[in-house]
Amino acid sequence: MSYYAKPIARLIDELSKLPGIGPKTAQRLTYHILKLSRERVKKLAEALLDVKDSIIYCSVCGNFTEKDPCDICENPYREKGVIMVVEEPKDVVAIEKTREYRGLYHVLHGALSPLEGIGPDDIRIKELLGRVGQGVKEVILATNSDVEGEATALYIAKLLKPMGVKVTRIAHGIPMGGDLDYADEVTLSKALEGRREIG
Ligand SMILES: [Zn+2]
Repeated sequence: MSYYAKPIARLIDELSKLPGIGPKTAQRLTYHILKLSRERVKKLAEALLDVKDSIIYCSVCGNFTEKDPCDICENPYREKGVIMVVEEPKDVVAIEKTREYRGLYHVLHGALSPLEGIGPDDIRIKELLGRVGQGVKEVILATNSDVEGEATALYIAKLLKPMGVKVTRIAHGIPMGGDLDYADEVTLSKALEGRREIG
């Protein structure tokens, strides 16, 4: 028998499926939501549906966007000859916050992980190869500094080298195993500045 009324149990259950939210937090959020006005709860529910209904992937870089191609890919002031490869859309936000980078992005949506069965065809590597060659001078590999991120960077570097493009890896002032978006802006700027050619 559940201690909760059914709708409460249901919301706790749904919330606790989200990353970083354990049963305790899910319970706290649920009770908080119950105390909000109906108007506030409606706004929250609408915002949830709105991201799902209006956000798509940019067909060029793979980032989340409202329109395709995205604002970054379409921006005439961005350097078209430089592509930075990152694992997740949140990494684009982290780099953009440094205000140091004016090139384009390529979002892989993951990293190679033999343990989890994630191979080259499961992330957007083919799409990256398809973009290189059209006036691209440098590809900056900014995957995470954990084992998967390093393996992914090396794998991509090997594929790109024969294509005659400069391949660089961001320096790692970023803590070992660290996600790009956990690094502060100064650290990220330095990592970008200190990038080295690899492959
Ligand atoms: Zn784009």
